[in-house]
Amino acid sequence: MRYSTLLFDLDHTLLDSDASERLAYAHTMATVGVTDGERHFERYVAINRGMWTAVERGEMQPTDVRHRRFEQFNGELGLAADPHDMADAFVWGLGAFGDLYDGALAVLDQLAARASLALVTNGLSDVQRARIERLGLGDYFDAVVISSEVGVTKPRPEIFDVAFEQLGRPSKVSAVMIGDSLTSDIKGGAEYGIATCWFNPNGAQAGPGDGVTHEVADLAELPTVV
Ligand SMILES: [Mg+2]
Repeated sequence: MRYSTLLFDLDHTLLDSDASERLAYAHTMATVGVTDGERHFERYVAINRGMWTAVERGEMQPTDVRHRRFEQFNGELGLAADPHDMADAFVWGLGAFGDLYDGALAVLDQLAARASLALVTNGLSDVQRARIERLGLGDYFDAVVISSEVGVTKPRPEIFDVAFEQLGRPSKVSAVMIGDSLTSDIKGGAEYGIATCWFNPNGAQAGPGDGVTHEVADLAELPTVV
């Protein structure tokens, strides 16, 4: 065990966010009466991804993504549905659907017995709070930092400041940021001056300047790596 302070990303690191998103999308389309929504799902995904990338760059606020992704989606597809109704249905669905990856709770159990854990996520408060409650994650984390609640987003250092403050200001050398995103988790952790662990289940390639300290392809590797 090298680290006593473990900062975790949630989406696509602990949570199967693809399943959550697909089910929430289907629920949203059903709610507004769109019967052929499935064939537009990839377009939705691209719009959504583009907006979260803009959030990482500091060009948008997380709370703006909530309905603006559906404004753009409706505009492109010529749908008359109210984007705010769609946002409400989607946010409810994201909170209600999607499971943790296999083995995630067992790993958290093992790590929480030996280290302080924080969840540091770039999500929306209502989505992430519903998930944390439904999945029973609250007991594992000594700090939960959600970007839309604190007004700052990974990779910005201020969100790490909030986490460190909530954890009682542990030393940076004790800490590692664990997540799937090179642009938010790994870049953010590296620029904050802490170690990083890239969750890379698909065998993607990182560059030498990406700031990856450790890499795992499976969450089960975490207890031996960090
Ligand atoms: Mg993620």
